[in-house]
Formats: sequence, C-alpha cells, structure tokens
Amino acid sequence: MLSVVIPAYNEQGMILKTAETISGILKNAEIPCELLFVDDGSKDGTWSAVEEASKRFPEVKGISFSRNFGKESAMFAGLANVTGDCCVVIDCDLQHPPEKIVEMYRLWEQGYEIVEGVKADRGEESFLHRLSANCFYGLISKATKIDMSRASDFKLLDRKAINVLLNMKEKGAFFRALSSWVGFRSTTVEFEVQERTVGASKWSTWSLIKYALSNITSFSTAPMQLVTILGVIILVFSLVLGGISLYQKIVGIALGGFTTVIMVQLFLGSIMMICLGIIGYYLAKIYEEMKGRPRFIVSKTCGKSEDDTKIIG
Ligand code: UDP
Ligand code: MG
Repeated sequence: MLSVVIPAYNEQGMILKTAETISGILKNAEIPCELLFVDDGSKDGTWSAVEEASKRFPEVKGISFSRNFGKESAMFAGLANVTGDCCVVIDCDLQHPPEKIVEMYRLWEQGYEIVEGVKADRGEESFLHRLSANCFYGLISKATKIDMSRASDFKLLDRKAINVLLNMKEKGAFFRALSSWVGFRSTTVEFEVQERTVGASKWSTWSLIKYALSNITSFSTAPMQLVTILGVIILVFSLVLGGISLYQKIVGIALGGFTTVIMVQLFLGSIMMICLGIIGYYLAKIYEEMKGRPRFIVSKTCGKSEDDTKIIG
C-alpha cells in the first residue's frame, strides 16, 4: 500500500480539494492508498475540513498537533503514523503536481527505494528570494555533498528508509537533506512548481532566514571553523600592524594614531561578537538536542484509532 503524508497549516480551503484530487488520481491508477493529513496546529478550520474529508473518503485519515510545530515536525509525524510499504510526502497546496505520485510509485515498483521530486524550475520568485535561496542551497549542497539546489520535500520513501529516518535521534532534522543522506537506491522525478491557488505561502522572510540558519548548522560545522580561520587572519594583520608600530616607536616617529586604535578596536570587537554568536548558535543547538523534547505532540485523530497512533515522537 502507498501512504501519502500531507502536512497542512491553515489550509482549510485546500483540504477537500487536495483529498479529492489525490485519491481520484490514485484510484484511477489502481494504487491502493491511504492519505494522512497532518494538521500542524492550524488556527483556521483546517481540522474540521480534515474530519469532513475523512467522512467522505474512507482512505483519508488525520492527526492534529497540539500546537504549530512546523513543517519538518509535521512530515516526521506523518511518517511515524503511516503503515504503507512506501510513502509519498506532498504539500497540501497542490504546488507539487499530484499526477507525479503515480510516476513515483511506478519507479518504486521497479525497485527504487527513494524517489526525489526535483523542481524543473523554481517558479515565480522575487530576485532577492532567488538570490538568498541560491546562497542557502549552495552552502547546504557543500555541507551534504549532494546537489540540493532543485531539491524539494516532495518525495517517495520506501519503508526501509522511513524506518531509518524514524530511528534517528536528531530533533532538529532537515528532512530534505536527510532523505538523501541516508542513501539507498534512488532516482529523481522532475516536476514543475504549480501556482498556489488558495491561501498564501506560510513563509515570511524572517522564518526563511531562521530555517536556513538552523538547517545549515544542523548539517555542517563549517561556520565554527570559520571562527578559527578569522582568528588566524586577524592575528597575521595584528602582527604586521604591531611590527609597524614598534618600528615607529623605536625610530621615534610614533604619532597620536588615535583613528587606527579606534578602528582596530571596533573591528576586533565586532569580529569577536560574531564569532561568539556562531559558537552560541551551536551551543543552543546542543542544548535543544540535549533536552530531548519530542518533535511533535498529537492531540486529535480522525479516521484512525488513537491506540495505533504515535502521539508523541
Ligand atoms: N506547512 C506546515 N507547517 C508550517 C508551515 C507550512 O505544515 O508551519 C505546510 C503547508 O500547509 C503546506 C506546506 O507545508 O502544505 C508548504 O508550505 P507553503 O506552501 O507555505 O510553502 P512554500 O510552498 O511557499 O514553500
Ligand atoms: Mg506551497
């Protein structure tokens, strides 16, 4: 059986349409399936729409978080609560074309264990957004040694890969990169990003910046090494500057030099602050992981019994 995990946050207008479209497509292709909506603590009528959908379509199930935990958590909760032999993760807004699920499933039948959906193009985006996305993916691709520039969260995972992901203790996991990191026999399916028809993107610029920082630091320690490199560069500079000042002192031409002092101090001060900040960021990460808090907490279910639901994970 194929499971489809659909994270949804404030998507009341999309739920029924998405459920109908996906189950229609899979029925036509004669693929046995279940659809699991993960309501990520929505503030609108998303949950009642999911309940409505589960009454209307027998294959639709739903779980609802106690609050908003973010899309990463929603995807993991979905994976933890599906029973299929393979599972597709797809956005609720139909920006990922659902017809591609059939193509992914056929590839899985041929023995592929991970089928990645890659974006043929990145859709309509502002120049600034594209620039920062390129920066982010450049860094992440370096850190993971996998080309991530066209990666998306739209993918099919075999049961084996799902179990590996679920057994990882990492709380601040970055699904998009981890699913490639685990390896297995994988292939890709290209898709065009569709326009969003209902509602708006849930990402503000600030949340994207936080997302980028958190994912870079969870995959790479390079920024910490940056601190050392900066230190060495500044050491070289200060040796040169120290040498010059000493020479001037000895030959007796040492001037007031107030400007230099101020500038050097300001420069060193800010570099030091940045470095402390970087170290602090990793410390915070370690602290978060150490606490070992669950990634998600389920408060309600529909279309499936609470007994076989993973409530926290
Ligand atoms: N989403 C979620 N929790 C969040 C934010 C988003 O489950 O905190 C879901 C959202 O409902 C959608 C998917 O993640 O199904 C992608 O979100 P969105 O369309 O806002 O992102 P974009 O397509 O703009 O990258
Ligand atoms: Mg979207």
